[in-house]
Amino acid sequence: MHRLYLDSPLQAGVVALGPSAMRHVRALRLRAGDPLVVFDGGGGQWQARLGAAGDSVELLAFEGVEREAAQAVELAVGMPANERMDWLVEKAVELGAQGIAPLMTSRAVLRLEGERAERRCAHWRGVAIAACEQCGRNRLPQLRPVQTLERWLRGLPAAGGAARCLLAAPSQAQALPLARWAAGVPAGQVVLALSGPEGGLDDAEIGLALRAGFVPVSLGPRTLRAETAPLALLAGLAALRA
Ligand code: SAM
Repeated sequence: MHRLYLDSPLQAGVVALGPSAMRHVRALRLRAGDPLVVFDGGGGQWQARLGAAGDSVELLAFEGVEREAAQAVELAVGMPANERMDWLVEKAVELGAQGIAPLMTSRAVLRLEGERAERRCAHWRGVAIAACEQCGRNRLPQLRPVQTLERWLRGLPAAGGAARCLLAAPSQAQALPLARWAAGVPAGQVVLALSGPEGGLDDAEIGLALRAGFVPVSLGPRTLRAETAPLALLAGLAALRA
């Protein structure tokens, strides 16, 4: 069944489609009367039918379907360059990330500010929406604005608040294996996971994260790429909580 995200809170009745939703419907080659599933990103989905002119949907029945990960994870990543960040956003959404914070770090290749940063975030939001449509998630993950690591850390509640904070650390002697670290996280807590860019985090940034309460965690003896490590974390935590 085709799935369509609509960017406003939904309730039973007929909803007019905006230009981008109409383009999407045309791309899917849907015809008047065809059934589809519609969701607004806030949870649950609607059984729906495409209207006669193809410019509206009739919402028929709400279903409280949830497909969120058992372990809520907020990812903060030193942005990898080029299409690798698109790839990371798409896969992170599929793997259930609750939020994604793209960070500028001292060794990150990608520097984004002002309008360019906003445009890129809007693009990543589109990638996240498409991933939700494809994988069946009915809750849209939060895409945070691009910011520096320092600023992101400053914005966290003291010691990460109720969240448990993990620093993906390839070369820290005292890093805990993921399973050992996760065993100490009570069920229901949001995990904040910080992972570095292509060149890794520098010593000052690692020091800041440690002082903010982040615990170094290892994903094994191999150095994973900047887009692989956060995905391995998400998959690992999901498997440990399953
Ligand atoms: N030479 C860099 C370093 O030592 O940090 C390599 C950076 S790696 C390409 C990108 C990021 O992925 C790292 O900063 C780290 O956060 C994460 N990472 C890669 N391999 C990892 C591993 N085996 N365990 C934990 N984190 C890892």
